[in-house]
Amino acid sequence: MNFALNDEQLAYKQRCREFARDVIRPAAPIHDADESVPWEVMKEARRQGLSGLDSMQYTSTDPDGQLGLIYAEEMHWGCAGIALAISGSGLAAAGVAASGTPEQIAQWVPECLGIGDELKLGAYAVTEPQAGSDVKSLRTTARRDGDEWVLNGTKVFITNGGIADVNVVVATVDPELGHRGQASFVVPKDTPGLRMGKKETKLGIRASQTAELVFEDCRIPVDYLLGGVDKLERKLERARSGESSGRASNALATFELTRPIVGVSAVGIAQAAYEWTLEYLLGDCQILDPFESILDDSSTAGRPPLERQHVQQVLADVATEIEAARLLCQRASWMGRNGVPMSGGQGSMSKLKAGDVTMWATTRLIDLVGPAAASSPLEKWFRDAKIYQLFEGTAQVQRLVVSRMQAAEYRERLEEARAAMVSAEQVAEPEPALV
Ligand SMILES: Cc1cc2nc3c(=O)[nH]c(=O)nc-3n(C[C@H](O)[C@H](O)[C@H](O)COP(=O)(O)OP(=O)(O)OC[C@H]3O[C@@H](n4cnc5c(N)ncnc54)[C@H](O)[C@@H]3O)c2cc1C
Repeated sequence: MNFALNDEQLAYKQRCREFARDVIRPAAPIHDADESVPWEVMKEARRQGLSGLDSMQYTSTDPDGQLGLIYAEEMHWGCAGIALAISGSGLAAAGVAASGTPEQIAQWVPECLGIGDELKLGAYAVTEPQAGSDVKSLRTTARRDGDEWVLNGTKVFITNGGIADVNVVVATVDPELGHRGQASFVVPKDTPGLRMGKKETKLGIRASQTAELVFEDCRIPVDYLLGGVDKLERKLERARSGESSGRASNALATFELTRPIVGVSAVGIAQAAYEWTLEYLLGDCQILDPFESILDDSSTAGRPPLERQHVQQVLADVATEIEAARLLCQRASWMGRNGVPMSGGQGSMSKLKAGDVTMWATTRLIDLVGPAAASSPLEKWFRDAKIYQLFEGTAQVQRLVVSRMQAAEYRERLEEARAAMVSAEQVAEPEPALV
């Protein structure tokens, strides 16, 4: 087992850190303050090969599964909102890749991301006012009408909502079948019947646009159904006849693969807050002021000395928890890339731990710095942290998933052990003597 990053991974980490420090951080306070879309940073990321199809392909070639984590952690170290603005379209592209035919993937993935320097955006729209954690209760409907599908309903809290070139929308074609009656559709920007609803004003990740999407008799061609009509018909038929699809376990397995990336994004925020606090306590104001906060004097007056025992205890705990969270993400990502089943919920564990650690660490660091923290960069990291306990599965839902997967895995091991004991007894039992 080798925990060290190799030369390529280290060089990539350095490249991402430089982009985060030199391009993302200077823009962060502006977009955080006015909640504007950081187009100029997104374009620069594309120009430097740090977003888009090529970038995604590069990070998915690493046999250790670590390049994607390095990218996410470093970008979020820069600013979580801008990092999400740069990479959020990947969700829509992944939605197309998961459900589309090869032809649809070839057509729509580039439309979600753009090709070369051309920047395009995608949105992945599942959540509704009454259906977030409970996705089987979606109410947005898709009705077939000749050569078209007609969509009606409202999606809420959609990243890139209203600015995406392509929306991948999950809707129900048969509400009685729960999640088995649902399908994914592609709805391009400017389709009549699609409009942006309320744009959210948020606590954190304010550079990432979040908005409602409203569908009112929104008509799309029949072949914008991902996977095609025949596949959907077969799926509905199986569901109506009560046949198991295995889809729920497939979806769980897919989430296990994506959660380490979300987890390590939170770690990037915690790491940024930790590094800043160390520098603040050391009085090093050259590096101190990533967001040009008002704490710009180099005086150390009022700062708790680094040598004080309480300060050491907090810093040690924070450093240890950040390492633990990162290691869980690294392990889960390695498992995913190497086809090791995450049947114990290792992907969900990593996201759960990282989200909780980041919220906890930013809170502890604010407490440590004291009132000055309110006007320091810590307050932004504290605001940005919260979402990692909410989206991509709330912390409570992660706990449900982990406990269910742990119980299922334990039951399976128990049955295997029982079966092994029975067969051992059969071997040990002497054959009755023939008379
Ligand atoms: C900034 C932001 C960006 C987002 N981006 C997207 C996006 O791009 N696409 C998209 O589709 N969605 C997106 N979402 C939605 C997000 O995924 C949901 O908000 C999240 O899944 C929670 O769903 P909910 O809001 O309906 O809360 P609910 O599911 O109603 O949860 C409310 C509370 O109840 C708890 N709870 C729910 N069920 C259980 C249970 N069974 N056991 C214990 N506790 C439970 C939850 O943990 C939570 O604390 C985004 C949200 C935000 C805030």
